[in-house]
Amino acid sequence: MLTEIKGINEECGVFGIWGHEKAAELTYYGLHALQHRGQEGAGVVVSDGTSLKIHKDTGLVNDVFKQANFSDLAGKAAIGHVRYSTQGDKGYANVQPLLFHTQQGSMALAHNGNVMNAFELRGELENEGSILQTTSDTEVLAHLIKRSTKADKEEAIIDALQKLVGAYAYLIMTEDRMYVALDPRGIRPLSIGRLGDAYVVASETCAFDLIGATFEREVLPGELLTISDDGVESTRFAMREQRRMCAMEYVYLSRPDSDLNHVNVHASRKRMGMELAKEAPAEADVVTGVPDSSISAAIGYAEQMGLPYEMGIIKNRYIGRTFIQPSQELREQGVKMKLSPVRRIVEGKRVVMIDDSIVRGTTSRRIVRMLKEAGAKEVHVRIASPSIISPCYYGIDMSSKEELIAANNTLDELCDQIGADSVAYLSENGLEQAIVKDKTIHQGICTACMTGKYPVKKEKESTISYSKS
Ligand code: AMP
Repeated sequence: MLTEIKGINEECGVFGIWGHEKAAELTYYGLHALQHRGQEGAGVVVSDGTSLKIHKDTGLVNDVFKQANFSDLAGKAAIGHVRYSTQGDKGYANVQPLLFHTQQGSMALAHNGNVMNAFELRGELENEGSILQTTSDTEVLAHLIKRSTKADKEEAIIDALQKLVGAYAYLIMTEDRMYVALDPRGIRPLSIGRLGDAYVVASETCAFDLIGATFEREVLPGELLTISDDGVESTRFAMREQRRMCAMEYVYLSRPDSDLNHVNVHASRKRMGMELAKEAPAEADVVTGVPDSSISAAIGYAEQMGLPYEMGIIKNRYIGRTFIQPSQELREQGVKMKLSPVRRIVEGKRVVMIDDSIVRGTTSRRIVRMLKEAGAKEVHVRIASPSIISPCYYGIDMSSKEELIAANNTLDELCDQIGADSVAYLSENGLEQAIVKDKTIHQGICTACMTGKYPVKKEKESTISYSKS
């Protein structure tokens, strides 16, 4: 998991709380738990019932909140965000939540995902006289809400959401309401929980655990929740469709202690490793995983094979992002500083190296070389997900097709390029087996980046009418 070094984009994380005296502080803690989802910027908007206040900046959660005075952020409701851009510039203006003031009141927005038709919607808004302040696709929704002809806020939000195509989890807050919306396919994760009488919402359940909240339920695809002092009201803005939770959330993105759609991430990764061992056993002495995201799969592979799982590669946790330079030569150095082989473990051994995925192939190539330099006799690369062959349009930046090594090479060519003794991927079926344990709860996953089968097409289908539930 070398996000910083490779510069492949991650997605964002959202957190919200309604009805707690320490709303801003709890949001800060919640954002800490979601830090892995974005390290570019963080922020909070808090409501004291009459006005909205904001604190946000570029940088890690800790740095951003170092200067925060929580007594200035008093209020019983808050939304927060950690950002890693998949759309728009990386600068301060795009750090979320975004806050807007109008004569009718204020509105703050936090968003995870990608609005595929943001460019077209932006064009339409500009033609009608809007001037947008950010290059983020999030701002588009705020303008659409404001421009809606519906007088009722909830109806205006529904009106606006129905114009979006893509994958999104939105938190929208006004002085006296919080709105929570998930895309019609439920591609992005979003859960709701309770902390005493307060309601909490987060991209991942690990944020609930950190603040002592209990998981209540998943936000449903196409659902809009309105949270106020009167409780929670649920509305549908899109017709019920089969959920397609992003497979990469399980494979790589989410934290192992999170449950997504009732499936624990670590347990699903372990099963991916076990399935992989059944499909592609390797004659080897020892199994190792690339820290951190591949460890669970490596444990599963080793267990299934009856081989020892060993710490063949260790990660230096204290290499900060400041060390990570974008130039190619310095990136190379960055890998060495971040990951080291454990010579005594791999020397003279036939090693199975498990990684969760291959995007451009850079990581695998470097690690294979590193293990061989440390004396490994053979390195067999096993990837705990199917090959990535198509770009993601739903919020995970997988680079363009030209950069995806598996899209442009045969398995033998790829094996040659990364210098491994053998390479194998988990099959699509194996991945489904590992994630979808109970079909009644888990209707399916989005595997578009691995199969090219996209559950949401860019062309907008007919506008869907909604009904209150
Ligand atoms: P690459 O070196 O380009 O082949 O990237 C593969 C590595 O990146 C694996 O070790 C994954 O853990 C990690 N990875 C997979 N998907 C992403 C993503 N969307 N953003 C950042 N890192 C990723």
